[in-house]
Amino acid sequence: METDPVCHAFLTDANFYQLLTRIDESIAEEVRARGCRCGGVLHSARYPRKPRGLRSALDGSYARRLSFCCAQDGCRRRHTPASVRFLGRKVYLGVIVVLITALQHGLTERRRRRLIEALDVPAQTLWRWRCWWREQFVQSRCWRALAGQFVPPLATACLPGSLLERLRGTVLSERLVQLLVLLSPVTTATGSLRVGGNPQRM
Ligand SMILES: [Zn+2]
Repeated sequence: METDPVCHAFLTDANFYQLLTRIDESIAEEVRARGCRCGGVLHSARYPRKPRGLRSALDGSYARRLSFCCAQDGCRRRHTPASVRFLGRKVYLGVIVVLITALQHGLTERRRRRLIEALDVPAQTLWRWRCWWREQFVQSRCWRALAGQFVPPLATACLPGSLLERLRGTVLSERLVQLLVLLSPVTTATGSLRVGGNPQRM
């Protein structure tokens, strides 16, 4: 009998994605409550998003990335909170980018291939993700802050798998959520480096 092509049951579980939405909402609420540095109040100014892969498990909250704009005339500064759902401007959900790139150094190649086929991720996109971890992520402020917390040091060539395997949690989905929380600073302008090329296509 054919098994579930996605392999990881949580990936098609709407509850898993709702949990990530609640985490994003709580991060965003902290940002909104702090207000703008000019003293202005923050108003909602969400970005439309169309995440690719597993759309059927996602509710309407995934059509928007939470963001705010200062209401003060003359300021209007944009404040985009960190996110555990959207990894920067990549069109695939953060959990997909993290899982597929992490599996490269963990579970069987066959399982990884099935996941890639089920999610229909082009080879070119996979290649860009690998480059992102190895070249851009390792230069981010987020990574520099994280790297010092692990002894022995994490193998940068095996990111994000080397990070995932150090996290505690009995099931993979728990460790993935922790990993997405740790990575979330990279999804804000202050935590990441400006990415060359066209990040929208990643
Ligand atoms: Zn302001």
